[in-house]
Amino acid sequence: MNLHLVERQQVEASLRRALDHEEFTLHYQAKVNLDTGMITGAEALLRWRHPEWGMVAPARFIPVAEATGLILPIGRWVLGEACKQAKRWLDLGLPIGAIAVNISAIQLRQEDFVSRVKAILHQTGLPGRHLQLEITESVLMADAAHNGTVLQQLKDIGVQWAVDDFGTGYSSLSYLSQFPIDVLKIDHSFVSSIETGPHDGIIASAVIGMGNNLDLCVVAEGVETWAQVEFLRQRHCDEAQGFLFSHPIPSDAFAKLLVAGPPRLAA
Ligand code: C2E
Ligand code: MG
Ligand code: MG
Ligand code: MG
Repeated sequence: MNLHLVERQQVEASLRRALDHEEFTLHYQAKVNLDTGMITGAEALLRWRHPEWGMVAPARFIPVAEATGLILPIGRWVLGEACKQAKRWLDLGLPIGAIAVNISAIQLRQEDFVSRVKAILHQTGLPGRHLQLEITESVLMADAAHNGTVLQQLKDIGVQWAVDDFGTGYSSLSYLSQFPIDVLKIDHSFVSSIETGPHDGIIASAVIGMGNNLDLCVVAEGVETWAQVEFLRQRHCDEAQGFLFSHPIPSDAFAKLLVAGPPRLAA
């Protein structure tokens, strides 16, 4: 307990300095269309290079950033950086599709969230349709009335919404369908159980089926094997993201991936 607390305090103190010291960077992970093999976009994932600790995983510092409110300035930096990068790629003629950014609950709850996102799009020159915002289903459900308005206001300027880690919360898809959502990301735990559990892939199948019926783009997270790809394609899952296609990589490496073209899908 005490050790935990000490680590938390150390992380918090270092996080406060990290933005000013430019210790954050974004890595980008491709999303791939399962019919064509084309890269449809990238998820921006935050990386923290601490001068002494080295790379700190998001699981270790995002919860601290959320608990302390530091996620607000950090989240603004992430949005600005991702939009700037996406605009650069567009200007180079690279087919970036949409750049996906993870949004925390307290960001979404901010009074001026919509105007801040609009300001960032305006400043960077990125058209709204090239931005996708990811929120988890529990965040979406926490304040349905407020979130419904926020989602619609940004949707009106072309921004897409994705529900992240789907299947780990308690919401029904019919309830979800009230919101202007474009994308459903099946949590990696259901993707990895495609091949392992006694009820192999049952939840993944159900989510894909319902997502398709609701006309959502269904994305499988954490895809690591060709057997998983085969299973997902048979069930008409739209897109996949995972180490099989690409790890999250720095922006210059991702640009090369975009130039080189899509990774080949098995016939
Ligand atoms: P997430 O949004 O669900 O992101 C996907 C996570 O799965 C990433 O972990 C990614 O590296 C990992 N992943 C991708 N493909 C595979 C695979 O094939 N196998 C396995 N085992 N893992 C895979 P990462 O980068 O450590 O991020 C963890 C979480 O931290 C994210 O989960 C997201 O919730 C949060 N996060 C990351 N960046 C940000 C950010 O900028 N803002 C906020 N609020 N949260 C962030
Ligand atoms: Mg995500
Ligand atoms: Mg996820
Ligand atoms: Mg579909």
